[in-house]
Amino acid sequence: MKPADFTYHRPDTVAEVTDLLSRLDDAKVLGGGQSLLPIMNMRLASPSHLVDLTAIRALRQFSETESGIRYGATTTHMMIEDQLVPDVTRGLLPHAASGIGYRAIRNRGTVAGSLAHADSSAEWPTVMSAVDATVQAASIRGVRPIPVRELLQGFFTTALDEDEFIIGVDVPRFAPDTRWGLYKMARKPGEFAESLAVALVRTDGVELWLGAARDVPIRLPNVEQALHAAGALELSELAEAVGADTGREGHHRQLHAVTVQRALQAAHQEATRV
Ligand SMILES: Cc1cc2nc3c(=O)[nH]c(=O)nc-3n(C[C@H](O)[C@H](O)[C@H](O)COP(=O)(O)OP(=O)(O)OC[C@H]3O[C@@H](n4cnc5c(N)ncnc54)[C@H](O)[C@@H]3O)c2cc1C
Repeated sequence: MKPADFTYHRPDTVAEVTDLLSRLDDAKVLGGGQSLLPIMNMRLASPSHLVDLTAIRALRQFSETESGIRYGATTTHMMIEDQLVPDVTRGLLPHAASGIGYRAIRNRGTVAGSLAHADSSAEWPTVMSAVDATVQAASIRGVRPIPVRELLQGFFTTALDEDEFIIGVDVPRFAPDTRWGLYKMARKPGEFAESLAVALVRTDGVELWLGAARDVPIRLPNVEQALHAAGALELSELAEAVGADTGREGHHRQLHAVTVQRALQAAHQEATRV
């Protein structure tokens, strides 16, 4: 199928975008188009206006910040995977990017587009929640920071206002003692996760995030506490704690427990790699 008719806008500046979004009814911004265009082709969305961000050079750039790095909104998955932009997470972000879809998707799909799309089974919502990233959201009212953990509000639902869009994603630099592990469970390479776990191991404890279990990525406090108390857990103990954190049972509980276990193993292996 092909999309319904729409008017295409290709502004050169952020100010033009905020102006267009404040004036136009039923407008959507276009990042890499790797989620929006298929949805439009299937007529699940029919915006009247598309505002393409990809001609705005400033949105493809990065800058160092006091706490880490700011990626422009149209930084692609490929740019992170290939380290064409700096990484402040000791390889976590490039590794996560390399697991997204396949190369053609990664060449065009953008980090901000993925966060705005807010699919809990996608890589960036879980990974950016785990690293406590913040998006910068622009509108004619100015720019405001929104932590990714607050941006993601439900299935395909964010805290962005109708006339707001993401201009940058701030990622804090990892502390020297942070080790990471990421494990994605998918039916085959190139598919969205059925379960996606990120483990951050620090000297003062373990932080765990899980995607594809609920409508938004979630932290796993029961698993973290059980690990803190016991040091290590059998898979059955892990599954019980994962069940308490996710509300999932049976096959899904087991699937997520295995994913968390493998992310933890990867984090501990990283600790011995460095
Ligand atoms: C076959 C296939 C396999 C895929 N597999 C995976 C996978 O394994 N893992 C994964 O994580 N993703 C996967 N994806 C999705 C891909 O990563 C998309 O690139 C991503 O979800 C959306 O990014 P985009 O830049 O293409 O956004 P678009 O498609 O352009 O936009 C998506 C939504 O975000 C909004 N938006 C875009 N940019 C902004 C912005 N700067 N500010 C505010 N709103 C914005 C749009 O209006 C739209 O609502 C897959 C996609 C396909 C087609």
